[in-house]
Amino acid sequence: MSHTQYEAVIGLEVHAQLATKTKMFCGCSTSYGAAPNTQICPVCLGLPGALPVPNRQAIALAVRAGLSLGCTLRKSSRFARKNYYYPDLSKGYQISQFDLPLNEKGSLEITTSAGTKRVNLTRIHVEEDAAKNLHGVGAGTDTLVDFNRAGTPLIEIVGEPELRSAEEAEAYLKALRDILMFAGVNDGNLEEGSFRCDANVSIRPVGQEKFGTRCELKNINSFKFVRKAIDYEIARQEAIVSSGGTIFQETRTWSSTQEKTLSLRSKEEAQDYRYFADPDLPPLVVDDAWLAEIRTTVPEPIAARRERWQRELGLTAYDAQVLSAHPRIAEYFEAATSSLETQRAGKLAKDNLAKAGAGKRVANFMQAEALRVVTTNGLEASFPCSAERLAGLLALVEDETINGKIAKDVFADMIATGKAPADIVSSKGLAQVKDTSAIEGTVREVIAKHPKELASFKAGKTNLKGFFVGRVMGALKGANPALVNEVLDRVLAEP
Ligand code: ADP
Ligand code: MG
Ligand code: ZN
Repeated sequence: MSHTQYEAVIGLEVHAQLATKTKMFCGCSTSYGAAPNTQICPVCLGLPGALPVPNRQAIALAVRAGLSLGCTLRKSSRFARKNYYYPDLSKGYQISQFDLPLNEKGSLEITTSAGTKRVNLTRIHVEEDAAKNLHGVGAGTDTLVDFNRAGTPLIEIVGEPELRSAEEAEAYLKALRDILMFAGVNDGNLEEGSFRCDANVSIRPVGQEKFGTRCELKNINSFKFVRKAIDYEIARQEAIVSSGGTIFQETRTWSSTQEKTLSLRSKEEAQDYRYFADPDLPPLVVDDAWLAEIRTTVPEPIAARRERWQRELGLTAYDAQVLSAHPRIAEYFEAATSSLETQRAGKLAKDNLAKAGAGKRVANFMQAEALRVVTTNGLEASFPCSAERLAGLLALVEDETINGKIAKDVFADMIATGKAPADIVSSKGLAQVKDTSAIEGTVREVIAKHPKELASFKAGKTNLKGFFVGRVMGALKGANPALVNEVLDRVLAEP
């Protein structure tokens, strides 16, 4: 009996919150975690007669997302009403885009254990978020509605069904999150729901071109769950089809407590929503001047930056990954590197320069010491000291004022006191004495003060050298021991 092999087909729909201070069609705040129903107005409550006004910054960010993902911009797009009834949607419709979305096509590259692959996008459109139902709060079984989230600006990124495994889906999500975060479009926070994913999953016999019936998985709010939910769903569908059953198109939810997908409802079709152009909103026009202005705000793509760091700064792929975990960390790293390059210019002997590039030195120190004390919050991050100060500390290591071990102590002091590295080094007398003539002066003083020991040494008690080294080091705090030994050997050998 032949055993049919199945292949998974996966397409993701991602909702990403646009990083604006105010909502999509009103001036209410989008800040997360406020007391329920404190960031609301007639527009986002959906009261009759209230009129929406599009948020210019939200549109600019949606265009920037499209530019960062290689989309084709539609210069005149349209808002449409998606009609459905639910307690978190008091207007009875969501303002979205349907037949004329802002961005079309586009693609992104993903990397898995099998290598890299380009995945196409269908579209990126703009829409508003719904309110949030809070189940089981108040008097036990009540459901209450928090409208703070209602009207939050979102983009929906619809991917083509070109993913073939849970691993590819996870890589796609991570790559997309990286791109949007580094473009300053989205804060990438899965836990707070500002980056959410629905996964469409179907299977088909290997070799068959026609797609199978898909199920849409909702409620996937972590990278780990994406993988688990998709793998579970593929296995579930295979079990049904292998035993002669049929897959029904439906919406399912991932239960992280049961580690299963569960049926929610049969899937609604586009016609069920009775989309129509929103009569309250004129066509959304992005003219050339505005587009040119937005284009200047698109940063160097993160993948290109990682490659450049490896090529130009000598970082490993791992270094590059760690230092680009967050856009502000990447900026800090680059600022510290260029500051160190400036500070070392002209100061450093050529052979020392060759020992370690500034980028690699900053990368090493950040990974060993500095990243532990960095905290991130959304798209912001807080650092224990400025990038220039960190570079200043490393410049002191490079010119051998202090060694790497002392640098760690100085860094701890910088964080604790907010003082500049050079001030800490000088006030604590941490600088290594490298000046041979200063060392020689002290060596001669010490020898002159101890004629008896000198005589014994000359008479063959060579272990007395340790005595002299100790005295010199004691007199010259932070002297370089190798230099002290060298100078001492020379002076003691004099007739
Ligand atoms: P909606 O889910 O809102 O009805 P679409 O029809 O545009 O919207 O499809 C949404 C997503 O479903 C896309 O990401 C697409 O890649 C994916 N998709 C479509 N058909 C399949 C299929 N047979 N198997 C898996 N994913 C699919
Ligand atoms: Mg869908
Ligand atoms: Zn409002």
